[in-house]
Amino acid sequence: MTKLPDFAFDNSYHRELSGAYAQWQGDKVPAPQMLRLNVALAEELGLDADDLAGEAGALVFSGVRAPTGAAPLAMAYAGHQFGGFSPQLGDGRAILVGEVLDRFGRRRDIHLKGSGRTPFSRGGDGKAALAPVLREYLIGEAMYGLGIPTTRALAAVTTGEKIHRDTGAKDGAVLARVASSHLRVGSFQFFAARGDAEMLRKLADYAIARHDPDLVGTEGRYLAFLKSVTARQAELVAQWVNVGFVHGVMNTDNMTISGETIDYGPCAFIDSYSPKACFSSIDQQGRYAFGNQPNIAAWNLARLAECLLGFIDADDDKAIALATEVINSFPALYQAAWLKGARKKLGLTLEEEGDLALANGFLMTLQGQNVDYTQAFRALAGAVRGDSAPLRALYDDPAQELDTWLAAYLKRSANESTTPEARADAMDAANPLYIPRNHMVEEALKAAEEGDMVPFDTLLKLLQTPFMAQPNAEAYTHPAPESFGPYKTFCGT
Ligand code: AMP
Ligand code: MG
Repeated sequence: MTKLPDFAFDNSYHRELSGAYAQWQGDKVPAPQMLRLNVALAEELGLDADDLAGEAGALVFSGVRAPTGAAPLAMAYAGHQFGGFSPQLGDGRAILVGEVLDRFGRRRDIHLKGSGRTPFSRGGDGKAALAPVLREYLIGEAMYGLGIPTTRALAAVTTGEKIHRDTGAKDGAVLARVASSHLRVGSFQFFAARGDAEMLRKLADYAIARHDPDLVGTEGRYLAFLKSVTARQAELVAQWVNVGFVHGVMNTDNMTISGETIDYGPCAFIDSYSPKACFSSIDQQGRYAFGNQPNIAAWNLARLAECLLGFIDADDDKAIALATEVINSFPALYQAAWLKGARKKLGLTLEEEGDLALANGFLMTLQGQNVDYTQAFRALAGAVRGDSAPLRALYDDPAQELDTWLAAYLKRSANESTTPEARADAMDAANPLYIPRNHMVEEALKAAEEGDMVPFDTLLKLLQTPFMAQPNAEAYTHPAPESFGPYKTFCGT
């Protein structure tokens, strides 16, 4: 039998939260094969990438075999999906293999998606198809490259099994991913819905120890924890919006306690700027549209607050008042985080009164102009260097509005103590050249389904250093051609 490497697991969730999971194994599959291993991440986890690149990795990351010390389990959670509450969702096609301490001493979950049915599967088959697995791999790595907190792909393994989707028979695959934890707002909702205060408190203390260790044992820790999750989410969603990312399915079960982006399903990056941008075929109302993400984050955090009320204060009214204050702080926290990011994008280091209006003013010039959002910010750096023609060329009609805005912007920029060249360089380090453009992602996934991984690898490599121009990659900086049509994402998972 193939010898499996030693992961040095330390499974705190399994040890401390019995009642919050079902012990479970991955399915046997016909022919597990390593398709892609994230060598850099494996090394960061202190794993031997050479050991894992072949059969051993395929066996472990498909879930077929559990290495020594693993305590595989399916996590229980609930969730509001598109506003409707499901008291029991849980890992329906995923297992937590175990936790490791990485080279920096950080606790990381190793988790498999697509490893077979579990007690939480409801009607699903427990499986994942190759394209969505690679999509999560690619977009997660792109987010990481952009410096946005995210779960990351450790490996993609094919299973040798055909699985059935609306669109036909697909090759099966499993994604191994790493997260600083898989605790979600929905994890709390699971016990709150059952009225299980004891487990709820245990879970909250566990989450605090894991993500807010400074709060352990302190009085008022549950309120402080709520504040801390709120701050992390404000920061996260601000980063999404600054880069033009639409998560697409911000259900409470897809919102982490850690502040990492999780579950890349129907997500997409905007091309032309529009707060209404919404790509998911199932999001008919635009609940999770680009510009609605901060509102939804606050709504989800209010659901977390509801779970914690009983621990915030013995007096219900007081607990509600305190929690409400935290939730109401979200818009200001979000705006501050967004503005911090926007200043970077604009090459501004000083904090001046009119910066928020200035930043919003640029977005106003983009609206209705069919300007690619990502290209516009790169071209703006060109304007700082003294050539605004490429920026103007992006607009359908570079009306006076742009000139007026540019004049105000260049005047404001002149207050900075840095040279225009240095500012423009800083802007290039904050505004990506390469994002996972929808048409490029689709092309890479289609090729992968046909057995050609070259487009995937090429795109992945660009996305890993998204701010740096690479030779022969000009085509990757352009928005989709008209012929690509309006983009729709499907859960298809
Ligand atoms: P998601 O939309 O991927 O975040 O998943 C929402 C819920 O549906 C989670 O409880 C998943 O485990 C479950 N789920 C999604 N796809 C499947 C599947 N193919 N089989 C079983 N459960 C699934
Ligand atoms: Mg999910």
